[in-house]
Amino acid sequence: MYCSESLGTAVDHFEPLNHAPRRVFDWYNHLLGCSFCNSHAKGGTFPRGEDGEPLLIDPTADEPVHHLRLSLTSGEYHCLTPRGCATIDVFQLNRGPLRKGRLDAVGQCLDTLANCADLLAVDDKAGAQKRMLRLRRQPLADVLQELRRIADRPSAAVVVGDEAALAALRALYGQPVAEPVFFPRQTARHEPDCRSWKTAPS
Ligand SMILES: [Zn+2]
Ligand SMILES: [Zn+2]
Repeated sequence: MYCSESLGTAVDHFEPLNHAPRRVFDWYNHLLGCSFCNSHAKGGTFPRGEDGEPLLIDPTADEPVHHLRLSLTSGEYHCLTPRGCATIDVFQLNRGPLRKGRLDAVGQCLDTLANCADLLAVDDKAGAQKRMLRLRRQPLADVLQELRRIADRPSAAVVVGDEAALAALRALYGQPVAEPVFFPRQTARHEPDCRSWKTAPS
């Protein structure tokens, strides 16, 4: 899934058939996508860097958080690498409906977290866990993932705006993330004309 707007309605050939006709039945070349990302946005586009390696992020092999950063205040993805940039462009990840949907999802996450904080305050951990589980099954789970990623940082209080809700997020998200939290060196806003992947070596 690229936009994570739905549970997936189409099967995407990661390496399109016009590029790799022999991979038509290759299991690892089959990804679940939505019809917009698959047919309308990506189509047969499959950019490669100068070294010939694919530029699009492969969700079966790459860690998207190393290439993309979701802004919870604008609902936009920012690019951290040329590969992130290419993926945003090709899948149009900052298209209007997705940005609006992500902002709605942020509001919904924060409402649920505040609600969970109330339940935790009266020792109803099971009730809070149930609400959290429901939230995790919602589309646009990338929003919740980003909230979790920033939960331990001082800036999280600014985004969440409620210490109790933040504590609920830390307590309920499940096991602590195994990997150390990844901090990019710099975050650049992805502009429609940034296209750093068109010139960058990798
Ligand atoms: Zn999609
Ligand atoms: Zn970019």
